[in-house]
Amino acid sequence: MNGIGDDGGKGASGGGPVARAILHVDMDAFFAAVEQRDRPELRGQPVVIGADPKGGSGRGVVSTASYEARRFGVGSAMPISKAYRLCPSGVFLPVDMEKYARVSDEIMGVLRRYTDLVEPVSIDEAFLDVTGRRRALGPGQAIAASIKKALRDETSLTASIGVASSKLVAKIASDLEKPDGLVVVAPGSEAEFLSPLPVRRLWGVGPKTEESLLKIGIRTIGDLARQDRARLERRLGSHGQDLRSLAQGIDDRPVQPESSAPKSLGQEHTFERDTDDIETLRVKLIELCDEVGRRLREHSLAGRTITLKYRNETFQTRTRAETIADPADTGEAIFTVAWRLFRAVHGRGRVRLLGVSASGFGSHGQLQLFPADSSSIEHARDAVRRRFGDGALTRASLLVQRRGDRRAE
Ligand SMILES: [Mg+2]
Repeated sequence: MNGIGDDGGKGASGGGPVARAILHVDMDAFFAAVEQRDRPELRGQPVVIGADPKGGSGRGVVSTASYEARRFGVGSAMPISKAYRLCPSGVFLPVDMEKYARVSDEIMGVLRRYTDLVEPVSIDEAFLDVTGRRRALGPGQAIAASIKKALRDETSLTASIGVASSKLVAKIASDLEKPDGLVVVAPGSEAEFLSPLPVRRLWGVGPKTEESLLKIGIRTIGDLARQDRARLERRLGSHGQDLRSLAQGIDDRPVQPESSAPKSLGQEHTFERDTDDIETLRVKLIELCDEVGRRLREHSLAGRTITLKYRNETFQTRTRAETIADPADTGEAIFTVAWRLFRAVHGRGRVRLLGVSASGFGSHGQLQLFPADSSSIEHARDAVRRRFGDGALTRASLLVQRRGDRRAE
């Protein structure tokens, strides 16, 4: 049991003298479990929620497979046609998002009875920081057990919970004994807990990074934690450093309750004089995207939807949005999308106003520690800006343009 003060002085979380108690709550096979709850005849059956399989020729993917269906090899994100081949006797159902969202609200309501510090990560997942609730409610493990019971009693659904001193470790822990699991990682034992697990369990290790790690003989998180800094940096750049810290169990990111997190972050600019100069427009868009990226990172957010606001000289306003696979928190990634939207909407006339915003933070996706390769570079820029002020760093391409701007003015 991890009560207050049994940190052992190791402070492996790096978060101060008292280790935090972070819970990661993850509902088991959520969509399928809701359907099996509501339709008793489906219990014990392989249930696949997702696109219509159309007798094996359907397009689209599996959203959730019940544990019975998983025994046939069916899993999330798999093409529905493949799922149908693997499990033709399965019960295939469409996604009833309205219903799942309602159940999700109930679940989050239960979690908020334990603490205000609830950060929903997706429709069926949330982080809780119960550090300050232990005096009243007991150690993290007891709180987790109580939450599991409350969810079962009130929603007839099971959850798996990880308890640890950081989000990273809690999230990995919740996944280890699914379904209906409860895994507690005692403060001070984070690195030891992570060590035998395959590197791909670590946030920020996608198939590509995994491949380059395997190539240099790094198979487990422990292998990574023990790596020589310089060697890792040569192989993976600054991303390597970040991964090594995570592998050592170092993750200080706070649990951010939804109420304090903005729904969208944006920036807009009205030109002094309407302009049709494409370079001026492009540079302003880069600036806006950089600013949105900086603010996203300040809030530890990444946006899945990028929206462009475009107003022309006749005051017609158009907004265009695009949702992307990898949530963005860098000016570069945002600009890639914003520029595409701009080109689609920009005609021959002059532009009066441009705006860029990001929204769709952290829903339905993995928590992204390193959403894009340039992220750590821009994180480093943030640090320099904090120390030396806003003018300290500007992208070279912008500098050239600014000079040009001045000439034009
Ligand atoms: Mg889940």
